[in-house]
Order: sequence, then structure tokens, then C-alpha cells
Amino acid sequence: MDTSVGLELWVKEIHQNTTGLSFKVEKTLFSGQSRFQKVDIVQTYGHGIMLLNDGIIMLSERDEFIYHEMIAHVPLFVHPSPKQVLVIGGGDGGTVREIMKHPGVERVVMVEIDELVVNACRTHLSSVSCEMDNPRVELCIEDGTEYVDNTQEIFDVVIVDSTDPVGPGAVLFSRPFYEKISAILGPDGIMITQAESPFYDHDIQRTMLLNQRPFFKKLQLYLFSTLTYPGGLWSFGYASKGICPIGDFDPDRVETSDISTRYYNPKIHIAAFALPNFVSENLEDI
Ligand code: SAM
Repeated sequence: MDTSVGLELWVKEIHQNTTGLSFKVEKTLFSGQSRFQKVDIVQTYGHGIMLLNDGIIMLSERDEFIYHEMIAHVPLFVHPSPKQVLVIGGGDGGTVREIMKHPGVERVVMVEIDELVVNACRTHLSSVSCEMDNPRVELCIEDGTEYVDNTQEIFDVVIVDSTDPVGPGAVLFSRPFYEKISAILGPDGIMITQAESPFYDHDIQRTMLLNQRPFFKKLQLYLFSTLTYPGGLWSFGYASKGICPIGDFDPDRVETSDISTRYYNPKIHIAAFALPNFVSENLEDI
């Protein structure tokens, strides 16, 4: 996770053995090993507190609002009336925090495989995990695929806030998993998936959308910027049986809501779906 440079401590994430991201660390707040992964929480200089799973940066307090606002508010402002929401992964609680800003959401079920992530973030990352005790939130410590296999419930929005497609996160990018999610979504249902880097992960993005294609009529990627993931540009996948992220989006719903955001707004919502040619050309036959 960290490397010493002289007497200084740095977090250094090497990506695909070709590039790296470094952040200067003041001190380690937590370090633990679960059955699934190593979990580290560090206090950085300039980027607030940072969570790493297996040495991969999950979030920093400096920019996590962008990721969490874009993963949550895009589907919640497109779905006509989201009441039941399922989050798979997302153990830090940031996605749940943003969902809880929507008063119409009656219940969020968060299914996280690793209790260590949830507990460490409750203790050391309260700015992110602050809504985990909200009575509308139900936490299940379970593999997301097992949960979707066994649940009898129907959800309005499913958000797959997963790690990369390695280790326990790999199944969250698979075709059988997407088939099960489509079965537990209502007719207006929307699924959002963490869709990796447009620069480094175009093969993953293609495979992810090809795996979703049989079960969803509308499939689109949307983009946002990040300070702490390789390449600085990242993406989410939008999938639905018919509801369109632009055509069915009413900017007035955002303007008249009391929801306060630092990145998300109606113009960003629409602009996020405009893809540069190098991204859309990779996906145009799907
Ligand atoms: N924003 C993050 C990133 O860097 O991509 C992802 C945030 S969140 C910490 C991802 C969570 O997904 C992790 O805590 C991990 O334990 C969880 N996860 C991975 N595989 C899972 C599975 N099969 N079922 C449920 N949760 C899973």
C-alpha cells in the first residue's frame, strides 16, 4: 500500500504496470486483513482521509462527492418515483449517503460482502459513512450475487458500487448477475454499474455492456472526473428496460428539490452522457 520516500510516507497505486498515482500520507488510521481483501484507511496531506482495498484507491475525502453524487442522483432523478433501492458493494457508505438525500426513497438495502470495510469506514470515515445508521437503511453482509439469487423483492433502482472486476468483484460484471438484476427490477427499473476507465479499460467496458445487452433495452455509459483514479476520467453504466436517461429526465425535478450537491446538476446530468468519439466508437456495435 505505501512506500517510503526518504522519511516520507506515500500511498502509491500502480495501474496496469504502466502508470501510477501517488499521494502523500500523514498517518495510517487503520490497517486490517479480511477473508476478501486488505483494507487500509490513511490520513493524507491535501486529499483528506483515503480508503484503499488491496492497495487500490477506493475514495478520498477530497473528491468522493463526485463519484457518489453521480452514481446516485442520475438514476434517482430519472426514475419516475424511486422508493426501493438496492446497493451492491459500496461498503464505505457514500452511495447510501447520497440516496438518503431523496425523501421519497423508503428503503435502501446495501449488500456488501466485507464487514471489515463497513466497520472500518464507520470508525474512521464518518464523513462518508454518516447515513449508515439511518432507519431507512438495511445492511446485509453477503455476496451480492447470492442476495440477488435469493431475494423475492422488486427494486426501482439497483446500484452496483463495486470494486474492479478482480477478486470478489469479478462476478459483479458477469452475464448471469445482470440477468438476475433485470429480474428483480420493476418495469421502470434502472441499474447503474461502476464501469471503469475509458482510457485503460475499454475491453472491460465492452464486455460489461455485451453482458448486459440481452437483458436491457437502453444501455449507455456516462462520464465524470476524478482526482484519485488512473486517467482522471471515469465512467458508470446506465441500463434500463425503457426509461431514457435524457428523454425521461426532467431538470425541474432537480431544480425544485431541496437536495444539495457539489458536482451534480441538470446540465452535468445531460452532459455526462455525451461521449467522446474514442469512447463511443469502442461501443457502437453493442
Ligand atoms: N468507489 C469504489 C471504487 O474504487 O471502485 C468502489 C467502492 S466500494 C468500497 C466497493 C465495495 O464492493 C468493496 O467494499 C467490496 O468489498 C465490495 N464488493 C466486492 N465484491 C462484492 C460482492 N461480490 N458482493 C458485494 N460486495 C462486493
